[in-house]
Amino acid sequence: MHETLSGLVLSVFVVPATVLSDSSLSSNGVSEIPKKLLSFAQNPQVFDWMVGIRRKIHANPELGYEEFETSELIRAELDQMSIEYKHPVGVTGVVGFITQKPPFVAIRADMDALTMQEMVEWVHKSKNAGKMHACGHDAHVAMLLGAAKILKEHEHDLQGTVVLVFQPAEEGGAGAKKMIAGGALEYVSAIFGLHVANQVPIAEVASRPGPFLAGAVFFEATISGKGGHAALPHHEVDQILAASNVIVSLQHLVSREADPLDSQVITVGKFQGGDAFNVIPDSVKIGGTFRAFTTESLMQLKQRIKQVITGQASVHRCLATVNFFEDEKPLSPPTINHKDLHEHFRNVAGDMLGFEKVKDHQRWMGSEDFAYYQEAIPGYFSFLGMADDALGPLPMPHSPYFHINEDALPYGAALHASFAARYLLEFQQEVPLPEREHHDEL
Ligand SMILES: [Zn+2]
Ligand SMILES: [Zn+2]
Repeated sequence: MHETLSGLVLSVFVVPATVLSDSSLSSNGVSEIPKKLLSFAQNPQVFDWMVGIRRKIHANPELGYEEFETSELIRAELDQMSIEYKHPVGVTGVVGFITQKPPFVAIRADMDALTMQEMVEWVHKSKNAGKMHACGHDAHVAMLLGAAKILKEHEHDLQGTVVLVFQPAEEGGAGAKKMIAGGALEYVSAIFGLHVANQVPIAEVASRPGPFLAGAVFFEATISGKGGHAALPHHEVDQILAASNVIVSLQHLVSREADPLDSQVITVGKFQGGDAFNVIPDSVKIGGTFRAFTTESLMQLKQRIKQVITGQASVHRCLATVNFFEDEKPLSPPTINHKDLHEHFRNVAGDMLGFEKVKDHQRWMGSEDFAYYQEAIPGYFSFLGMADDALGPLPMPHSPYFHINEDALPYGAALHASFAARYLLEFQQEVPLPEREHHDEL
């Protein structure tokens, strides 16, 4: 594959010496595009503008499918840059286009916040009680707009179209699925996504080919018995004890039934039942999530979780129902990076940051709905470093103390822009053209 690609780069393109057409590529195989785009993104004006956008979104976090003001802000910025877009796609989503000629490559940001209270005291703290950008999606939007800005300024050099995908509801709402249904990937040959990472050093990136992040499913069970006096359990049917045994038995699915080399997790994070010390309640709710790196393993877990909950409940004379939220929180597939795009990622990031700053990352049990795009077309997802010893340790995502290192923004913007621009430059001859287009228009 790589021989084919480099062959194409060396032989097919005769391009002017402009920013995105990178004439240096043909002489020594090293592209100047990523470094040039990084210097544009590090321009103090561009940096301050991105920081301003990020802080504005941070102070006004909106949950999945409610990102109305965030979406409006994005569209206002696209209008300012004279970038055309489609809206709404997937309720609040926006799809922008830089140029309108084939081939098409997409870069993606998610827009939603989490249901949690920010505990960081700073001037741009969340103004919306109980909502917080604790995963960095505010930074993702700012970086994608940053990429849009630097690409738009050089659009005459672009060898195709960069599609800007601003999606809603990444946090369990399957916003990516709705974006695809809304046509966000129409004609698109490949897609790239970045996530800020608190444990990867600043000016570094990390990822891996093949399975990278786990797939995830959520579940909730209601276990019903017969409530009554705590001192007279022989007259009642105790679901607290039944649910406790259910939880213990669920852990055996991973430790005793799964292949030890096939990483899986089941976590029960919710256990609700009873209000009094001396009352056996009528019903108990438990809920949680399970993770695995193949859809088959997720399906196997799903089937066994249902059997264990209902079977273990009946051992205790209780009844149980299990909800897997197929509609509200559909299965998020494993994030599987396209193997051929891994080399592209390494080359582009390596040319920008130095190859020693492009790290292999181990598989991670967190999940990402970017996986939906990867089910539809080749896609590549990577972590963007934020850690800086001078700042001390950064909290984990989804922590109420989460904060980001804004110095990562120019790297994210330039990487997005470079992944896309270089893809168009290197892969365009391999990309099947949309039927309505004609080859001779190129
Ligand atoms: Zn998250
Ligand atoms: Zn996230």
